[in-house]
Amino acid sequence: MKAHTLPLFEAELSDLEQNVSKAINTTLATHGDLERFRVDHFGAEGRFTVLTRSMREMPADRRKSLGQRLNRAREAYEKALEDAKLAWAAAMRAAELAGPPIDVSLPGRATRPGRPHPISSTIEELLDGFASLGFEIAESREIELTDFNFGRLGFPPDHPATDMQDSFFVKRADGSVDESLVLRTHTTSIQVHEMLRRKPPMAVVCAGTVYRRDDDATHSPMFHQIDGFLVDRGVTFAHLKGVLTAFVHRTFGADVPVRFRPSYFPFVEPGGELDIGCTFCRPWDGAGTKAQIDRTAACRTCKSTGYIEVLGCGMIHPVVFASCGVTDPSFTGFAWGMGIDRIAMLRHGIRDIRMLYENDMRFLTQL
Ligand SMILES: [Zn+2]
Repeated sequence: MKAHTLPLFEAELSDLEQNVSKAINTTLATHGDLERFRVDHFGAEGRFTVLTRSMREMPADRRKSLGQRLNRAREAYEKALEDAKLAWAAAMRAAELAGPPIDVSLPGRATRPGRPHPISSTIEELLDGFASLGFEIAESREIELTDFNFGRLGFPPDHPATDMQDSFFVKRADGSVDESLVLRTHTTSIQVHEMLRRKPPMAVVCAGTVYRRDDDATHSPMFHQIDGFLVDRGVTFAHLKGVLTAFVHRTFGADVPVRFRPSYFPFVEPGGELDIGCTFCRPWDGAGTKAQIDRTAACRTCKSTGYIEVLGCGMIHPVVFASCGVTDPSFTGFAWGMGIDRIAMLRHGIRDIRMLYENDMRFLTQL
């Protein structure tokens, strides 16, 4: 930090005083010139800053007169800077006005408002639908304990899904594979977390991203699922059918037929799949008429069967209860899981899953 002795102070002050008119007449043509002038004189190590700092080193009997001269000089330089700024702004404005005129008749550029992706809006609507039936919405992690993703849900250790060919395991820092951590292959693991965390009764839904090593025209290695389950005393398959039928009617329309078929999943017994009437060829519309028969015969989505598969479901397997600490046998429950991408496709009439991930605005803004 610089400070002046008396002789230096006087020399510097005199120099500033003598050059006031020169300072005032200096052409400060650019913004950079103005800034340099300001820093040179009023910056942290500027000439006036150093002089002001040095005032307390001056002999007491000289301070008053030196202070007065310093203030006068500073005011003159401040005014010079202020005038130069105004002149600079006026010059800029004049240059702008001298340039080509602004065409006020040019149409404006429309701003396109953002909107949720169809996957996101489908997730919102599905969660909303189940919340209105009394289900709580839970969130869970995408990197899951292999035990929670498979073992506690009743997958036998040699199940193909537990293989590295089918699932993404996590790498350790040394590059080796940590088989105890996996990118969740389904949102079903929410059952394990919730049942271990608290006591039934409970009714929970969970939606999110899941990962499998599938990558072809109809499968993406990352997709979305929603899973739900309900545990209470005296829950039966009739409750499952009631809840899922209400969901279908709410999501796809009250006239859409529902069909349950037996199927196998490790974590339910009995297990089933739910099919809905094909929302593309709508075989219940004018059923039996030639128009309907032709429509369904030509439908690629349901492969002319009139039905499409939307979700897997079933009664929660006793093995899952046992491994999640629900020991009271009077509790039973049901669970279901479905692919959200597929529901979004059915609702919006999208025939190719890849369109959901191409982010083509022309496509997305139609939905
Ligand atoms: Zn169809």
